[in-house]
Amino acid sequence: MNSVVVVGAGPVGLTAALTLARRGIEVTVLEQGAGLATESRASTFHPPTLEMLDALGVLEALLAQGITASTFQYRERSGGVIATLDLGVLASDTAYPFRVQCEQSKLTPILMAALPSNAEVLFEHTVHGLSAGDDGVVLHTSQGPRRADWVLGADGAHSAVRRGLGAGFDGDTYPERFLVASVDEQLDAVLPGIAPINYVFDPDEWLVLLRTPEHWRVLLPTPADTPDALESDRLPARLTAVADLGRPWRILHASLYAVHQRVTDSFRHGRVLLMGDAAHVNNPLGGMGMNSGIHDAVQLADALAEVLAGAPESHLDRAAAHRRTVAVDHVQRASHNNWRNIRAHDDDYRTHLRHLAADPDAARIHLRRACLLDTLDIRP
Ligand SMILES: Cc1cc2nc3c(=O)[nH]c(=O)nc-3n(C[C@H](O)[C@H](O)[C@H](O)COP(=O)(O)OP(=O)(O)OC[C@H]3O[C@@H](n4cnc5c(N)ncnc54)[C@H](O)[C@@H]3O)c2cc1C
Repeated sequence: MNSVVVVGAGPVGLTAALTLARRGIEVTVLEQGAGLATESRASTFHPPTLEMLDALGVLEALLAQGITASTFQYRERSGGVIATLDLGVLASDTAYPFRVQCEQSKLTPILMAALPSNAEVLFEHTVHGLSAGDDGVVLHTSQGPRRADWVLGADGAHSAVRRGLGAGFDGDTYPERFLVASVDEQLDAVLPGIAPINYVFDPDEWLVLLRTPEHWRVLLPTPADTPDALESDRLPARLTAVADLGRPWRILHASLYAVHQRVTDSFRHGRVLLMGDAAHVNNPLGGMGMNSGIHDAVQLADALAEVLAGAPESHLDRAAAHRRTVAVDHVQRASHNNWRNIRAHDDDYRTHLRHLAADPDAARIHLRRACLLDTLDIRP
């Protein structure tokens, strides 16, 4: 019996563990935290991710906790809609022609509850490094050494697995940080006509308004060198500038984070696979980070299961190369373009969006790419 260890019980690690366990493979997940993370982070699930979660038997539970959004809008900060795109044009491409808005912290308990008895999650097990050989890997953990035949590194952007391999993480850090505030306000009442997801264009004060099941989230840019305290002092006025409620907005939570565009050298290093934020990070515009990470988990875990069942290892090499190509050629490029376009001065992109809204065939081509449906075919 092969032993497979997944490092990290985030959405990516748990999806990989569930994929392997459902195929009869014994899996252990090592998680440094005392429990699953509860932070508010990614909150958009795209159609192909919904298909994958359905195949794993967990979609119904996610749909019960999330809200479905079949349209999203591009708007001007100065007022008015640039374009509304309707995911309904994907009805012939997917059983789920909509996005689901739901925090990732609601998915992870669902995934964990779905794990069969051949999978276990060990909390308070931190991986500090590893020694990898041709026939297995020894993980150096807070609970002592642990041997595995295969290791899946899904331990997030600061991945100890990636560092232990000495793998690079090339790319850039943006000149601005992103400020995300969760607010206890009904924004669709104060900004009539907004969609559940809104990308609001402006060269300086662009923003994103996202509805989640319990509240709205507002994403704003902030110069990298602004002190955190000053930024939190400025936040109430920045929100009032979005919509004046005649009183301060009720802010439930706000966090500032640095934004990176980075991809590791290779998603396979012998018997170690890297996936999710451990392998690639990008800005959140378009919601591609967690989604493409879940796609890594399913495609790499499926390929590993095939290899463990006797398929040649070239199968795994192809899947790993494919996932890196998707990260570099699609996710990095598209998320960066989204950041550039939301700050655009000129009318070119706005004209393009209006064209998409008016032409369902053009919208379908655009949305297939934007929601990652076009990134799933692994070439033989
Ligand atoms: C503040 C913030 C806001 C974000 N907002 C958005 C958003 O709005 N939209 C979007 O698409 N994406 C967003 N992202 C990105 C998104 O959250 C990630 O793409 C997603 O969480 C990736 O999942 P993951 O499982 O790969 O990594 P993670 O969710 O980071 O999970 C990694 C897990 O590994 C564990 N771990 C880490 N190191 C070790 C170790 N050494 N040993 C054992 N366990 C370890 C961690 O505790 C964690 O549970 C955001 C990220 C951040 C940081």
